[in-house]
Order: sequence, then structure tokens, then C-alpha cells
Amino acid sequence: MPGGTDQTLRPFLWRAANLYPDTEIVSRTHEGVELYTYAEYADRTAQLANALDASGIAEGDRVGTFCWNHHRHFETYFAVPTIGAQLHTINPLLPDEHIRYIVENAEDELIFVDDSLAPKLASAAAEAPAFEDVEFVVMSGSGTDALEATPYEAFIADRETEYDWPTLSEDQPAGMCYTSGTTGNPKGVEYTHQMLWSHTMATLTPQGIPMADDDVVMPVVPMFHVNAWGMPFTATAGGAKHVYPGPSPEPADVAGLIEDEGVTITAGVPTVWLGLMEYMEDHDVDLSTLDSVIVGGSAAPESMIRWFDDHDGGSAAPESMIRWFDDHDVELLHAWGMTEMSPIGSVSHLKGGLEEADYETQLAHRAKQGLMVPGIEFRVIEEDGDEIPWDGEAFGELWVRGPWITQEYFERPEANREDFEEGWLKTGDVVTVDEEGYLQIVDRAKDVIKSGGEWISSVELENAIMAHDDVTEAAVVGVPHDRWQERPVAFVVPAAGADEDRLPESIRELLREDYPTWWLPDAIEYIEEIPKTATGKFSKKDIREAYSDESLLEGRVPEEAAPDGD
Ligand code: ADP
Repeated sequence: MPGGTDQTLRPFLWRAANLYPDTEIVSRTHEGVELYTYAEYADRTAQLANALDASGIAEGDRVGTFCWNHHRHFETYFAVPTIGAQLHTINPLLPDEHIRYIVENAEDELIFVDDSLAPKLASAAAEAPAFEDVEFVVMSGSGTDALEATPYEAFIADRETEYDWPTLSEDQPAGMCYTSGTTGNPKGVEYTHQMLWSHTMATLTPQGIPMADDDVVMPVVPMFHVNAWGMPFTATAGGAKHVYPGPSPEPADVAGLIEDEGVTITAGVPTVWLGLMEYMEDHDVDLSTLDSVIVGGSAAPESMIRWFDDHDGGSAAPESMIRWFDDHDVELLHAWGMTEMSPIGSVSHLKGGLEEADYETQLAHRAKQGLMVPGIEFRVIEEDGDEIPWDGEAFGELWVRGPWITQEYFERPEANREDFEEGWLKTGDVVTVDEEGYLQIVDRAKDVIKSGGEWISSVELENAIMAHDDVTEAAVVGVPHDRWQERPVAFVVPAAGADEDRLPESIRELLREDYPTWWLPDAIEYIEEIPKTATGKFSKKDIREAYSDESLLEGRVPEEAAPDGD
């Protein structure tokens, strides 16, 4: 006989409201910085649940959000799933046609929208039949001119602050998020209560991203992207204080909130931290409360981890950095995950045995994507179908299996046949695994560069180039070549003041130290900015379309562009 009650989100809300009624939730909104407690949060969440009932939202209905990170968005995180409806977070940075497709495919009944994003939603909604019956609620006290919408505060005002939360099945869909495929329309991933519950419990472990009642948690990663990596749920389950950085946070906002609110754990994609690092160089702010900075979504360059560690060496650290670190150990933790896995898969904690290793050995492990958190199994499959040895050299495609990994995409049978097999999700990530079990993402299968039948990792080259002091950003793509199939070309954003005549040769010198000659990019091109996807990653597709063509390689490809000729 099964034990206990079902695995749903309700107990997390109950715990925070009853055990930590005075713990704060701080939120930067269009209206300024707002603050209240879990007790008030629980009241407002119940009011929202009552308002949703009154609007006719019933069990199984989908409710969309089109919002940045703030307290009202967080109220939808528990109210919507805990009444049995499904919270569908929509990425407002997607192109209009994707937003239209997503709302139509998910059949959202009601959408919560930020005032600053209402014009964008209105533009996507124009003449789209899927939007005709959708009710809009705008996330402010005052409303918007862009859409016919009820202001949020009016929507919940006068509603009861009690709600009789139902007993739900753990298989009830609780959330939904679309992941941008490389081709075609985005693919929907549904999260059941059980998936979000098990993801929360696993991330609470020391091998995950633990959050306790003395933590102050600020997700910079957007709440429209895989539930801000689940942090609002984990922070609530752990009874931590929440800080939400609001619409389009700039490095100054991020730094200001860390300093003012005493943030201990924050998380975001590498570009967020690159922005903060640059900001820190000219600003004297005290960020010494920080314990962990979680970085994921794309690879964290080793140079970034080193930068965060530099206070120990005290070497060439500028004044502002020393002030920031203030003798406090800030750990940059590298994490890997996917929309399909709610999203956390691995975190790069040091294994016990490595605690005593020298700094460079530790760094080499911390720069990898890490160890799978408890609950996930993986295997790595070579092209011939065999599993690779765990030697840190051989690579293949990563397959994963576990309680918070989806078993299918929403209404996409063709993608399901391709990406799932006997309970395993084929991630499309090409990885190595070392003797200790640390995973390293070598590339996306579609971005790996194939030169003369051998593979070159675009990610490794990018990280190595970005370690150059005179480079701000770099992306490497494979350009078609008659003889070698593809050859690498680097697109580089030089740092201000870089000697642009000398830089390409100096990048090559740097790469020669670690890579065989046939890996070296045949052309190094300057661009102003690397195009990014709606989730802040380098958009290789846009780089290929906008910049790369075969003429870049003319007369530049060496005779020995494969390992044999090396
Ligand atoms: P989207 O492509 O819409 O941003 P996801 O967030 O689901 O969707 O992207 C997941 C992919 O992001 C992974 O399969 C992997 O390729 C990449 N990724 C995530 N975290 C990391 C990381 N720490 N290092 C390298 N790649 C990462």
C-alpha cells in the first residue's frame, strides 16, 4: 500500500506560511521596491485563487503569464497549480509568431501580463483567433492602454484570504513551458505536481542547490524560463527570503538588490554575471553576503569561475573586487539542465575526495557541468550505439532518466519519436564523463564542427577565446567546406581598447597552447555583438544566417585540417 499523501506543491506553501510567517518577500516592480511577508503572501495567494475561481478557471485549465520576476508573478506560481489549474509561463522575448503559436497550442484561458510587456503581447495577439476568448489581467495597480485588461490589484481585491485548497493527484499538470527548438515551432513541456515536487526535494539536498531559512534567494534567471530554475519553489520549501529583481534587471539593479537585501544565493545565465563583473570594476558595492552564484543555461567560462575566486589569491584584483568579496567565500556553482528536466540535472559541487586537491585540479572539475543530482540516471551513447568509457576523453550523446524529466512533448508525436526512448530523454548534448563521473558538455550535437570526419568542440574554442583579456564575447561556428566538410570560424567582440590588428594572431597563439593546429579557426571576424536567443544564449543559428558564408574560408584553410595532418 502506498504511503503518505500525494506529492504536490501545496505542502511547500503551507510550510512557509505557517513556519515562517514573518520572512520577507521583496520585489522590484514598475512601481518601486515592494516588501511583504510569507503570511501576507499566503493571504494574497488565497485571494488570487478565489479570484481565479470567480473568473471561471477550473481544474485542468491553463493560465498564462507574460511577466518578469516579481511578487505578483510569484503569487501565480502557487495559486494557479494549487487550485488544480496549470501555470503556463510564456517567454516574452520570443518572436510574435512563436507567442501566437504557443498561446494557441496551450489554449490559455487567462493571461497575466506586465504593463511594460502588454504592447508586445497585444502585437502578438493582433488578429490571432487564439487570443479572442482570452481574459487579460495586467500586473499593476493601474492597468494598461495596450490591452483590455483588469488591473491585478482590482482582480484580487475583496476576495477572501482563506482558500480550501483541494487534494490533487500528483499527476495533475501544474506547469508548462515551451523550449525553443532549433527548427520549427517551440515544443511544450508539461510539469506535473509530482515532477515539481521531486525537483524541489532533489534541489534542496546538499548535492543540489540547497536553500534554508537563513538564505536570501534572488533568481535573476527569468520566471518565464523553466520556473526560474525552480527557485521560487525551492526557496519556499526551505523557508528562505525571496528577492525578485523585476523588469529587465541591469547589473546596477542586481548589485543594488544583493547589497540592500543581503542576498546569499542568486542564479542566472553567464551573460548576467559577465555584466555584473564589468559593472563591479567601476563601482564600489558590498556584495559580501553572497554565498553562491549559480550559473547555467550555457557553459560558464573557466575564467569567470577564476574571477569569482580571485579574492583568495589577492593578485591583480581591483579595489572594487576586494571590497565585494570582503574575505567572504563566494562560490560560483556551475549547473546544467534543460526545460525538459524542470530543469536541474547536474551541479558542479566538489566531491569529498577533491576537497584536498590543488586549486587547478579543483577548478578543472568546477568548470565542468558537474555531477547528476540524486534521482537522475544517465548514460552517454556513441554514434555506434555503445556507451562511452568514463575517461574524460570519449564523447557521445547524453541520455537522462528520472522523476522530474518529461516523458513527451505536448502534442508533438514526431519530436517524441526522435527525442525519447524507453523512458530516456535524448538530450542532444554531446558530453564527456571523467573517472569521477563529472559531466562536461562538449557541444550541442547540432553545433559540433565536423572537420575531416573528426569533431571540434565549438564550446571549448569559445571558452578559450573568451579567456583572452582583449575579448568580450566569442562564438565559433562550422562553415561548410568542400574538402573538410566544415571548418571553424570565430566571431569575436573585441574589448574596448583592444589592438584589433594584433588580436587575431594573439588569439591563435593562445589557442595553440591547448589545441591541435587543425582546431584553430581559419578566420577570426569581428562583430559588434553576438546575437542571443530569447533565453540569453548565443544564437548560432542567427550567426550562421547573418555572418557566416563560405567566402570567409577562401584561401585560408590549411592543408592539414584534420588530425592526420597535424
Ligand atoms: P532553450 O534552448 O529554450 O534555452 P533550455 O534552457 O532547455 O532551452 O536549454 C537547455 C540546453 O542548454 C541544454 O541542453 C544545454 O545544451 C544548454 N545548457 C544548459 N546549461 C548548460 C551549462 N551549464 N553548460 C553548457 N550548456 C548548458
